[in-house]
Amino acid sequence: MIHQFETVIVGSGGSGLYAALEASQRSQTAVLSKLYPIRSHTGAAQGGISAALGNVEEDKPEWHAFDTVKGGDYLVDQQAAKILAEEAIQAVYDLENRGLPFNRTPEGRIDQRRFGGHTCNFGEAPVRRACYAADRTGHMILQTLYQQCIKNDVTFYDEYQVVDLILDDNHCNGVVAVELATGEFHIFAAKAVLIATGGFGRIFKITSNAHANTGDGPAICARRGIPLEDMEFFQFHPTGIEGLGILISEAVRGEGGILRNRDGERFMERYSPTLSDLAPRDIVARSILTEIRAGKGIRGDRKIDDYVHLDATHLGKEVLREKLPDITSFCQTYLGIDPADSPIPVLPTAHYAMGGIPTDAFGRVISDGKGTIVEGLYAAGECACVSVHGANRLGTNSLLDLVVFGRRAGRHIGEYVKELEVPSVSEDAADMAGRWIKQLTDGQTGPHGGNIIEELQTVMMEKVGIYRKGSDMQAAVDQIRKLLERYQQVRVQDTSRAFNTDLLELIEIRNLLDLSLLTAVSALNRQESRGAHSREDFPDRDDDNWLKHTLAYLEGDTVRIEYKMVDTSIWEPKPRTY
Ligand SMILES: Cc1cc2nc3c(=O)[nH]c(=O)nc-3n(C[C@H](O)[C@H](O)[C@H](O)COP(=O)(O)OP(=O)(O)OC[C@H]3O[C@@H](n4cnc5c(N)ncnc54)[C@H](O)[C@@H]3O)c2cc1C
Repeated sequence: MIHQFETVIVGSGGSGLYAALEASQRSQTAVLSKLYPIRSHTGAAQGGISAALGNVEEDKPEWHAFDTVKGGDYLVDQQAAKILAEEAIQAVYDLENRGLPFNRTPEGRIDQRRFGGHTCNFGEAPVRRACYAADRTGHMILQTLYQQCIKNDVTFYDEYQVVDLILDDNHCNGVVAVELATGEFHIFAAKAVLIATGGFGRIFKITSNAHANTGDGPAICARRGIPLEDMEFFQFHPTGIEGLGILISEAVRGEGGILRNRDGERFMERYSPTLSDLAPRDIVARSILTEIRAGKGIRGDRKIDDYVHLDATHLGKEVLREKLPDITSFCQTYLGIDPADSPIPVLPTAHYAMGGIPTDAFGRVISDGKGTIVEGLYAAGECACVSVHGANRLGTNSLLDLVVFGRRAGRHIGEYVKELEVPSVSEDAADMAGRWIKQLTDGQTGPHGGNIIEELQTVMMEKVGIYRKGSDMQAAVDQIRKLLERYQQVRVQDTSRAFNTDLLELIEIRNLLDLSLLTAVSALNRQESRGAHSREDFPDRDDDNWLKHTLAYLEGDTVRIEYKMVDTSIWEPKPRTY
């Protein structure tokens, strides 16, 4: 079946919905989502969205932009960071005006809390910059934007999984999707397509990400010849629940929570004298691992799965109930403890992809280091790389990225589609996806994908995790290639058409394999340590040779690497101390 729209948005998280809201003011807009919109992962975001409102203490967009650049270990494109920090203020007030119920100060202003790496006066001391709705900020953003999209007549195709792009001569003409309820192909012809499919934390075994975070958008783009930028930079959040990876928001430390080792010591004071527990995430995650390796984890056995304590007992029941109610209930549900009485056992968890589909500041996808635009194709949110997070994202800057760049992309699309005709697209557009699905369902028996995904997540966790070494990463690349070979034999176990989640999961596994290969090869290639990419064999940052973005092109089971300049037009790179 062929559908025609002026604008098609793939993904209904915060970025997709904000883009849809803006695009729908000027064009007929459809949103396709493999999940029901309000189940999108943005709904899991807890701690806040940053903006230098200065509601509780002095703050400035310039400080915010600087923190973002320094937090990203100078791999951030600085004009993009400036846009992020400057447009943050209006973006947050827009959300407020659209109905988002932020927590308030006693005077009735939007309240703000501390978060890692956010400082006043270029690094002097922590500042309260994160606007929040208890520890349900993402949930509130999603609900607010969804209501507004419904009000503005956006058409939703829920439970449609996009499997391919229609790309012709560097011009995007639409997408191909499978309808979950029937198993039918649907072709969506469009003047403009925006990819907003979120993150891909599921390449790792222990992650804060939901099962649906399989990086479909970037993987589809990569298979269609679009490079992925800075894939080697994957953030491990310091505080996942030990053994499970479920996130305990940085907001706990923002409200005063303290990390302690087996001696009860507040060890972050040694690693970061100025910011301590609120140092950026890459630094805190590495510090936790260093404590564990030194036998100072809670068990003290130096094993990789030992953990430390996040102590919130001194915050009191009232603060926990009012400002961190979800965290309190996670601790009760998953650990059987009350954080007001007992410290929380935590360990770093794979959390956020800094890299992704390269875009300019209007969300237009670019296909090389010269900035060549792929006509009609946009990307926003966690799947995109604009690049405002560089080598390490600061907490609360992702929700901000969604609304600032989702909004900019939606507005640009509204103008872009004005003078164009909807392209004519034939049923043949689904041929490539059709051949792939036929192979997975062709009646021959074959293994299911379960073992492949487990082996993939384990090798990524063990060999491409927080601390990395060349020999480990080479072993990971070799194993991923073998898994890609084995993938050729996998077949669905369920051959029905309606609600065939078995088939859709096999498609997602392929996406995870391709993204893991791109991540591991990009990481092996970068011979330095920067932000979240920490190599034991190259422990220093090397600006002379590596102050550049990676562009990784997927070519079958090999990866070709090119580079793109970093915009350092405002601040000179400096050593990164906190
Ligand atoms: C537990 C947790 C807490 C967090 N807390 C914060 C925080 O406090 N502050 C902050 O700034 N950041 C936070 N983050 C990060 C932030 O929430 C995410 O980066 C952000 O929400 C991603 O939004 P998105 O719009 O890019 O994608 P998502 O919200 O993940 O949405 C992706 C959408 O794409 C759709 N989709 C995916 N694949 C397909 C496909 N093949 N076909 C059709 N549709 C598809 C999905 O259905 C979904 O609608 C947190 C992350 C986690 C995991």
